[in-house]
Amino acid sequence: MFSYRCEQCRTTWPATSRREAEAERKRHRDLVHSGGVPDGDCIQQPPRPPKPPQPPFLATPLRRAISTTVAFGTLAIIIWVRHFA
Ligand SMILES: [Zn+2]
Repeated sequence: MFSYRCEQCRTTWPATSRREAEAERKRHRDLVHSGGVPDGDCIQQPPRPPKPPQPPFLATPLRRAISTTVAFGTLAIIIWVRHFA
């Protein structure tokens, strides 16, 4: 979502699509500022919310199951190699 802001008029138009914000900017410049570019006018895009932090590696049941399986599998292979190979 984008919104157009005119710093001279201290006004921000509601968030909309980029194309509509650009159309609003042109309309406002033409109507209020005689086609001129007011200082500091801009099309704003609200910052995206940060991604949630990644859980620690062993935080999910699937990862714990995989880790346990790998650990016991490795242990079983070591024991098998030492005793039977
Ligand atoms: Zn203005």
